[in-house]
Amino acid sequence: MNEQFDVVVAGAGPAGAQCARDLAARGYDVVVLETEQEDEFPRQSNKSTGGTFPSMLSAFGIPDDVVMHFTDSVVIESPNEHFVREQAGGVLDFGAFKTFLVEDGTEKGAEYRFDARVSNPITEGGEIVGVQYNGSREVYGDIVVDATGPAAPLAKALDVSDLKRENQAIGIEYEFEGVDLDAAGHADLTDAMMLRLDHTYAPGGYAWIFHTGEDTAKVGLCYIQNESYQRYAETRRTVDGYLEHWLDTDPRFADAERIEGRQHRGSAHIQPPGALSTDNFMAIGDTVPTIDPLWGEGINKGMRSGRAAAITADQCLIPDERDTSAENVSLYDDLWHGEVAPGADARLFMTELLYLVPNERYDSLLRDLRNLDRDTLSGINNGNKLAIAKLLQFDDLPLLAQFAKQRLKAYRS
Ligand SMILES: Cc1cc2nc3c(=O)[nH]c(=O)nc-3n(C[C@H](O)[C@H](O)[C@H](O)COP(=O)(O)OP(=O)(O)OC[C@H]3O[C@@H](n4cnc5c(N)ncnc54)[C@H](O)[C@@H]3O)c2cc1C
Repeated sequence: MNEQFDVVVAGAGPAGAQCARDLAARGYDVVVLETEQEDEFPRQSNKSTGGTFPSMLSAFGIPDDVVMHFTDSVVIESPNEHFVREQAGGVLDFGAFKTFLVEDGTEKGAEYRFDARVSNPITEGGEIVGVQYNGSREVYGDIVVDATGPAAPLAKALDVSDLKRENQAIGIEYEFEGVDLDAAGHADLTDAMMLRLDHTYAPGGYAWIFHTGEDTAKVGLCYIQNESYQRYAETRRTVDGYLEHWLDTDPRFADAERIEGRQHRGSAHIQPPGALSTDNFMAIGDTVPTIDPLWGEGINKGMRSGRAAAITADQCLIPDERDTSAENVSLYDDLWHGEVAPGADARLFMTELLYLVPNERYDSLLRDLRNLDRDTLSGINNGNKLAIAKLLQFDDLPLLAQFAKQRLKAYRS
């Protein structure tokens, strides 16, 4: 007997779980298939630092009790400088947050099946009509959503997503107690989320310390093993090795002790999105990928892509006029480009340029940032090229030439 739903969602991450929450609240029959077992969920997928902002918490009705610590500034650090911006934020307990999304979605009427590993699309006439999971089990839906993150089994099989290995950023983080958050010579990191540009610790990427209350913090780093990495990685270390190196050499961790069982690791692709949808199908969250390339903000973006998919499904599944053709589903693409990740190209451009910059230039960049007005800073953050140009110096010409060469090579390949 076929099991038929309005919408089948693969993956109970922020993107899939939010999509299911919205659809269930609108009265649709939705099933979420999640590969992890219910009693240990989320374990492998408990991968995120969980840094977010009040706009995400209020837009999606996220309760304060999944926030480990509210912060009031964002700090950018380089080897010898820092830049502080007052901005309210919150560090989630990512595991508790994921559990909340599942419980709330279930209360609203979504069905969750754990220990359900999605492997393949079921197609009829070349269009997806359902999915296979756990080998031979099948479930059917008018619309299918791939929200499995970088795994993307459905999006890959349907040629919607083309996640490239060379664009895969890997990240690792431990939680600590006994961190010196207000050390001499550094910005005060009390109630702050700090991102550090420093190739010594994260070649071609960045490192971070997010305060989680008292003397505790999440400490981690991520990078892509691309040309910037090849250029700046003086010693070949694993990503864990780089984190150990930072912990061993930064005096702020001299008395820090790891909190047992609090370790997170994962990956995401930093690349432009390819296609986002086709007949009866949408890809959301890190499957696309939706994550912001610059600072890896993937939770808010992923949830917003989940909401855009739910809005699209709502439009396609109007009773008596069900139309899930690629043309109708392409509303999702419009919402993604217009509202979920506007200016994604410009931010990717900025990211590639930023991680190519040498350590000394990071220092002068942060000094320059301190002298810019708020509007220019917002412009830079939004990928405005005129605003970005204000940061460039004559000495950056060789770097820009190198960047252009790199882009041309990528374009040709
Ligand atoms: C180390 C690290 C730190 C990060 N820090 C931050 C941060 O501070 N702030 C921020 O905003 N973002 C951060 N991110 C990014 C953010 O966590 C992701 O962008 C976000 O989790 C993406 O959500 P998603 O739902 O698309 O995918 P995921 O979170 O990857 O969820 C996918 C779900 O699908 C399930 N799944 C996978 N394969 C299958 C399958 N075949 N069948 C069924 N289920 C499957 C997984 O178990 C998982 O539950 C970080 C990421 C990493 C790796």
